[in-house]
Amino acid sequence: MEFKKSQKLYEKGLQHLVGAVNSPVRAFASVGGNPLFIKKAKGTTIVDVDGNRYVDYVLSYGPMILGHRHKKVQKAIQKALKNGYTFGASTHNEIKLAKIVCDAFPGMDKVRFVNSGTEAVLSALRLARAYTGKDKIIKFSGCYHGHSDALLVAAGSGLATLSMPGSKGVPEDAVKNTLIATFNDLDSVKAHFKQHDDIAAVIVEPIAGNMGVVLPEDGFLSDLKTYLESQGALLIADEVMTGFRSTFGGAQELFNVVADITCLGKVIGGGFPVGAYGARNEIMEMVAPLGGMYQAGTLSGNPIAMAAGIATLTELKKQNPYEQFDEVAAILEVILLETAKKYNIDLVVNRFGSMINPFFVKNEVSNFEDALKADTKKFAVFFWEMIKNGVFLPPSQFEAWFLSSALSENDLKKTTKAIDAAMLAVSK
Ligand code: PLP
Repeated sequence: MEFKKSQKLYEKGLQHLVGAVNSPVRAFASVGGNPLFIKKAKGTTIVDVDGNRYVDYVLSYGPMILGHRHKKVQKAIQKALKNGYTFGASTHNEIKLAKIVCDAFPGMDKVRFVNSGTEAVLSALRLARAYTGKDKIIKFSGCYHGHSDALLVAAGSGLATLSMPGSKGVPEDAVKNTLIATFNDLDSVKAHFKQHDDIAAVIVEPIAGNMGVVLPEDGFLSDLKTYLESQGALLIADEVMTGFRSTFGGAQELFNVVADITCLGKVIGGGFPVGAYGARNEIMEMVAPLGGMYQAGTLSGNPIAMAAGIATLTELKKQNPYEQFDEVAAILEVILLETAKKYNIDLVVNRFGSMINPFFVKNEVSNFEDALKADTKKFAVFFWEMIKNGVFLPPSQFEAWFLSSALSENDLKKTTKAIDAAMLAVSK
């Protein structure tokens, strides 16, 4: 397998792009080597500029849940394009997508569309503060909520990939109201409430997907919600990754918890830049133009993105692939574990629905500290051998692999062969 054209583009890209990428994880920093440049994708197959074909488990870090260029989504985009790209005024499709989203999440009477998950989350924090009149926010270490200043602490994901504790350029003032707790440990939340009486909200990825996949323990989320109610603080569910992916109604539906504010992104834009935050009427009425919490966006509710989102969610609801996701992920888990055993490699596989993550570690992973024990050097060897065998994975031990509903038996066969070759390489 040759990467000559990718290599050339990488060198060219370095001149005017930072590290030749527009998002750090794409730089392959933690697995070594240079990033691949992609030419096109269709279904489960992604093709690089050298013509190498891969089964895609990155799926643009989640959005492409139906696989790439699903024909119904493509048709909807083409139809929308004929009418213009952006108007700075409301369109019917915004109302249609809002209804699909609010119908799926019982905690959302109203929604505001924005352009990314980061924007959704930073707006949700502002809203929680506006509603409660309190300033402090608790986040869990290892949960990633986008790159806004206040949340770039103990943020897992890309930072963990680069072994960065936080980000330069974030003033202390910006994080002085951010408190850190431990995922799956309600006592660590309570300890903060004992010390502070101005906590507005706790933000959580209900299934953590940015320290690898880490599931909430039984009762963790519902106990958290009950406790927060007793303290007059809000629960913000960051379902940017899990919304419409773990099941149609997100992780909240699965764990029977209704958050006060929900953040969405990724899947709801069908591959276009869309984020959203929503809540019950009483909270959303704080947002301008109804209330005094200001938040705006030139391209928010973009017509092409709305069309892609509606088509994606409509098709997703029709396909209802969630059981299939679970079955496929279970098969992958067995293949990963058995192959690791064959080559005497310590491996723990965490998965939920269409998110799966093998950790090169001995003991179970239930929080960020556990995740950080994983052997990233082994992962790097594994990653490149998977690439050489035609499987495209996120280039980080701490990023979830995503499944699409287009995944076929042939894709699984190719993946199985690649896993065998990659584990053999790790064992050497
Ligand atoms: N929240 C979660 C849980 C995410 O996984 C991400 C991105 O990966 C974000 C927020 C930020 O979303 P975006 O990259 O669209 O800004």
